[in-house]
Amino acid sequence: MALTGIQIFKLLPKTNCKECGVPTCLAFAMNLASGKAELDACPYVSDEAREKLSEASAPPIRPVVVGKGVRKATTGGETVQYRHEKTFYNPTLLAAQVGSDIAAADLEAKLKGWNALQFERVGLNLRPELVAVKDVNGKADAFAAVAKQVAETSEFNVILMTEDAEVMKAGVAACAFKRPLIYGATAANADAFGAIAKENDLPLGLKADSIDGLTALSEKLTGMGLKDLVLDPGSREPKQSNEDMIAIRRAALKNGNRAVGFPTIAFPCEMASNLDTETMLGAMYVAKYGGIVVMSDFAGESLFPLLLERLNIYTDPQRPMTVTEGIYPVNNPDENSRVLVTTNFALTYFIVSGEIEASKVPTWLLIKDSEGLSVLTAWAAGKFAGDDVGMFVKKSGITDKIKHQELVIPGYAAAIVGDVEEELPGWTITVGPREAAHIPGFLRA
Ligand code: SF4
Repeated sequence: MALTGIQIFKLLPKTNCKECGVPTCLAFAMNLASGKAELDACPYVSDEAREKLSEASAPPIRPVVVGKGVRKATTGGETVQYRHEKTFYNPTLLAAQVGSDIAAADLEAKLKGWNALQFERVGLNLRPELVAVKDVNGKADAFAAVAKQVAETSEFNVILMTEDAEVMKAGVAACAFKRPLIYGATAANADAFGAIAKENDLPLGLKADSIDGLTALSEKLTGMGLKDLVLDPGSREPKQSNEDMIAIRRAALKNGNRAVGFPTIAFPCEMASNLDTETMLGAMYVAKYGGIVVMSDFAGESLFPLLLERLNIYTDPQRPMTVTEGIYPVNNPDENSRVLVTTNFALTYFIVSGEIEASKVPTWLLIKDSEGLSVLTAWAAGKFAGDDVGMFVKKSGITDKIKHQELVIPGYAAAIVGDVEEELPGWTITVGPREAAHIPGFLRA
């Protein structure tokens, strides 16, 4: 059970030195208890106190790693119920399911297709992480063969799905090197599955038919020394499942219930008869509070919206995505190439630079620090004012790279043209398009 703020306070040095960023040890203790501070922020905690506080300072929902190497993925580790309170940390992992009776050639084709489903957005590579291998006929050899093929021939991490301990042992033997999630331990097989997970140091998925059942199962398995658990409350009706996900998150965060302080797994593939409905359910779990979401298939039209939703939900709301201020050459510009200036909001940068790239017109793109705001918002907030933009152009170093004195400002910032001209005497300031989509036509004209 987590410690209260007062209990934590008693273990702190009580010097109120402020080095942790708050005025008093009591304030730090309260922040620690509510998950708003990290224990490492106080350099003066004794080893003895650190040990006692480790439980209190651990995230209320344990982070669980699936996989190994560069493609390993973490789920859980969340500290808040609502994203606006702080941020969500570890994005929902997306999985697609295959049956253990799939033919090797069909699996090869599927994996190839799924691997191609990668999307570039704001400089990030968006892609799914997992393939779930489901035992459909109780044949250990077939289960192991499919698990081995997924593990050895693809970059996907693996979920092994069976309630038969012998089949699971065969699957683990085939792909333990990839640290698969083994799913699922039930009240009936908990001892055997707990032993397999412990022996191979693997994360273990638990399945019950209620939250109470899940709590009992979790307590039994943590009692066996297992730490990396993933929870499935068993509900497959959307409303009940949504309520269960919320109840588990609340119990872990608000009530400090360590038995449910683990990430969850959800199965839209078992809740809908078509991929469209599955995708809507998947979207629900990305928002609340699926740690892993298992779909029956990946298709571009269903996966892309889920990846984008995930990107948005798991972006820190208090820290806009930005790119570094500076000069960005696009399409090999030279001393005669045009110069465009815009803000450092990452989405603005990637859309504008993408359109310039598509135009194939060599261009210098100047990115001015606007604290991560888009053009119109930055202009309204005074972060993209004419004199600032002019001064930035002068200091940017672009004048060493060009022979002309012409600058294009964004259409949404047309109001600053006069101030930019004042700051940059002798320059020609042109107002560019409002919409990035019109940039190629503008540049070619
Ligand atoms: Fe107290 Fe440690 Fe913060 Fe100093 S750094 S005020 S000792 S909690």
